[in-house]
Formats: sequence, structure tokens, C-alpha cells
Amino acid sequence: MKRVALLGATGSIGRQAIEIVAAHPGLELCAVASGSSPLDDVDAPLKQVGGDLTELLERAQPDVVLNAVVGFAGIHATLWALEHGVDLALANKESLVAAGELALAAMARGGGRILPVDSEHSALFQCLEGSEREQVHSLVLTGSGGPFRGRTRDELGDVTPEQALAHPTWSMGPKITIDSATLANKGLELIEAHYLFGIPYRDIEIVLQPTSVVHSLVRFRDGTTLAHLGYPDMRVPISYALTYPERAATPAAALDFTTLTLQFEPPDTQTFPMLALAREAGERGGTAPCVFNAANEVAVAAFLAGRLPFLAIAEVVADALAQSDGSPARDVHDLLEQDGAARRFAEQGLSVA
Ligand code: NAD
Ligand code: MG
Repeated sequence: MKRVALLGATGSIGRQAIEIVAAHPGLELCAVASGSSPLDDVDAPLKQVGGDLTELLERAQPDVVLNAVVGFAGIHATLWALEHGVDLALANKESLVAAGELALAAMARGGGRILPVDSEHSALFQCLEGSEREQVHSLVLTGSGGPFRGRTRDELGDVTPEQALAHPTWSMGPKITIDSATLANKGLELIEAHYLFGIPYRDIEIVLQPTSVVHSLVRFRDGTTLAHLGYPDMRVPISYALTYPERAATPAAALDFTTLTLQFEPPDTQTFPMLALAREAGERGGTAPCVFNAANEVAVAAFLAGRLPFLAIAEVVADALAQSDGSPARDVHDLLEQDGAARRFAEQGLSVA
């Protein structure tokens, strides 16, 4: 029996994870946590609403931590799992993006591993299996382009949170849905892919595939490209991460090739500057990705609250990156300080915007 600690149990990923665990006789929940929503309808021996997630993990001693918390709030749970050598099924990309080298160092000390839950990274992980690093030419990260694909900047000036929350292919929590509309999500995923697979940024390409059927691809040195296909359904990567390497059955629908059309197009980086900002933050390294993430979290919350126009999200992030020196964090306290400073700077920017 594999004992799963599910953090973020009331969210979009959390709910689907509960379904996967319930359907698999070899998986059980040993602990569940949420930020503020009640957990009354979830059956688990340990439950926690709010509070310190690492205390819960200490008590639960899980075999695998599924971190499905949204945002930087997931940082301590990610570092706890890596430091203790406990398998980390990672949906909470923000923690890996922000912690970067600190997370990799914790993983090296703990001896554990990260099993990606993000669909693109699960796809890349699967396409990379069994290959040596020198055989890999580059990664191709796919994205849907979000609800505003094809629009010009002029057409984005007055979009509302309701419009931005209407994602064409995925049904997700509000923060990542806005990130998908600005393409910040693909930017976070670029940095996530760099840390997960150790591939330099210049060898990670981003391509739009509007129906979200091709979840990502790996190019190899012999000219082969392996792709991972499936209808958009997060239960598949959740199940893969929780049952790896077993690849348990899921209720996901099989692809129907008689109705399938696959189109690809380049992202419009002029209209969606978050992609270029993320690449810049990633290449700068140090705490630049942490600053990118922190400013984005502040700006997205302000946009959702009706306090910031859509196009200003990227401006808040660009300003925060410009004022930060991005010096590497020596430890987690350092990182928390940098995250806090970036948040305060971004908040000040909001009152001017
Ligand atoms: P969501 O908003 O639906 O759920 C977030 C969950 O986190 C909730 O259960 C909430 O209570 C919990 N939470 C928030 N703050 C917390 C805290 N301080 N302590 C404990 N729990 C806290 O979000 P989501 O869409 O499920 O996304 C979760 C994570 O997974 C994000 O990092 C997102 O980027 C990633 N992800 C989501 C999807 C998706 O399809 N939803 C796909 C890929 C990656
Ligand atoms: Mg994704």
C-alpha cells in the first residue's frame, strides 16, 4: 500500500487526485490539507486546514507527497519531501520555479525524486524514459495559447477576469487559468522543465497546439521526435505520478483518430510578454525566477480582484525583475526574504498602476 499525503485536496488537482486514489487498491490517503476550505467530505486519518504543512507531513510520514497547493505557499512541503527523500508528485510548479537550485540541492541530499504532475512535464518525463542525456537534442513544450490566442494587444486592454477564466481546453483553478491567459503558465513551465530535466533554456522550445492533445515532445540527436498524445485530462498525469512505474488504468477516453486534427503555431511573444520575461528570469537564474513568480502571484490576485488591468500583469512582473539583482538564495530564509521583497515591490507598483 502506497500512502499518499495530498496537499491542496480541495482544489482542481486535489479533487481529481482523490478520485484516482479511491479507484486504486494500492493507494491510500494518509493525510490531506487545504488552505481554508473545509475537508469534511474527505476521508483520511489526518486532516489539516491551514497551518504548517511540514508538521502534518512529519506526523503522516507518507510514501509520496502530492503537492497540489497553489503558489509559493507550497514551498515548505516541496523542500520537506526532497530533503527527506520522499517521492514528490509535483503539481505545485511555483515551488520548484522559486526554489530552483535550492530544491535540486535538497533532492541531492535527500536522495528522492520528483514525479511531475504538470501534464507537459509528465509527457516529457515519459518521452525521456530510457534515454541518456547525450541522446537528447531538445525539448518542445506545448501550450494551448489560452483564451486570448490570436488577439492583438489592443484587443486585450479591457478583458475581464470572467473572460480570462474561460479556458478553451482545461478546467483548472483560477490562478493557473489566468497564468494560461497571459502565458505566464508556459513561462513557469519553461523554468520547471529546466530544473526537472537539466536542459539549458536555449534547448527548450515553446509551441502552441490549440487543442491540447499533444502534451509535449522530445527531439533526439538522430532526428527522431517523440510526442505524448491524449485528450486533456489531468487524471492521467496524476495517476502516472502516483502509480509510477506501474502506469495504472484510468477512466480517460481513448483518442479518436478519425476526428483528430493537430495544428501547431508559434506563440506571439509581442502580445504575451510573460513568456519572454520568464525566459529572461530563467536565464538570469539565482532568485530571478522567484521574483518572477512572486510578482506574478501578486499581479494575478490583483487582476482577479478587479484592481489591475490584464496587460498590467506583465508590467508589474517586468518592473519587479528590473529592480531585483537576482542574487542566489543561500538558504530557504534567504529565499523567503527575496519572495517577500518582490511581493512588497509588486504591491507598491499596483497602487501606481
Ligand atoms: P486550486 O486553486 O483549484 O486549488 C488550490 C488548492 O491549494 C486548494 O485545495 C487550496 O485550499 C490549497 N491551498 C492554497 N493555499 C494553501 C496553503 N497555504 N496551505 C495548504 N493548502 C493551500 O488550484 P489547482 O488548479 O488545483 O492548482 C494547484 C497547483 O497545481 C498549482 O500550482 C497549479 O499551477 C498546478 N497545476 C494545476 C493544473 C490543473 O489542471 N488545475 C494543471 C497543472 C498544474
Ligand atoms: Mg501544464
